[in-house]
Amino acid sequence: MKGLSIAEKLLKSLGITEPGEIDLEAIAWTLGIKVKFRPLEGCEARIIGRGDTAIVTVNSRSVAGRQRFSIAHEIGHWELHRGQIMVCRPDEAGDLIQKTSPAEKVADRFAADLLMPSYLFRPALKMYRRLDFDIVRKIGDMFGVSLTASAIRLVGSGEHPAILLCHNQNGRRWFVRSSLIPTRWFPRIELQPESSAMDILFGKRSHDPQLRCVSADAWFDRYDAHKFEIVEQTFRISADEILTLLIIEDDEMLE
Ligand SMILES: [Zn+2]
Repeated sequence: MKGLSIAEKLLKSLGITEPGEIDLEAIAWTLGIKVKFRPLEGCEARIIGRGDTAIVTVNSRSVAGRQRFSIAHEIGHWELHRGQIMVCRPDEAGDLIQKTSPAEKVADRFAADLLMPSYLFRPALKMYRRLDFDIVRKIGDMFGVSLTASAIRLVGSGEHPAILLCHNQNGRRWFVRSSLIPTRWFPRIELQPESSAMDILFGKRSHDPQLRCVSADAWFDRYDAHKFEIVEQTFRISADEILTLLIIEDDEMLE
């Protein structure tokens, strides 16, 4: 059990050996938590505990991947913050966006580990040689998580030289960069017209059907960026939010 996170140890102790076995309501039940689905206003989920038992209420209007993330987040609070009062904003990108409470970040990290434990996630992503949103979606479906949660975990795993960015109409919200990419490649805050991301954010298209080549200059404000080409793909995740995957394959950029 060495090197495993608290969430991963919990999964191992329950004998979970496949992504399809991560049944959150069953896991919650073993910990004394009952999960209910109700329409909620202004929040995704909440937990109310008394003694050794608790009730987690999840917004019944949210999509399935979102609900799973919320349940996992609340299980995190039960395991780590019992007895404290929590105002919950479960967010798949919680670590990447400024959050007021450290406990919220910790619960988001617990949720990502519970839903995509590295001992199951790494073997799953080794099944695919390359990375694009089609593969992000397939792995997300395998683990029952959203495209965003799957993409963050994939890029964060450090298996591919990739950067994942989230933009809305006010600019960049957050990004995550693989450890394979040198920190000098720091993405621009504003979108550039050379990238199809701008077209997708402000236009009618929902995504790039496949990866496309673009000058690195479109994404990086560096004196030498124009010398290189990178690969990009953008996917709209809500009315005013897009995710972009950048892949850097040029060895000189990765040196
Ligand atoms: Zn919370």
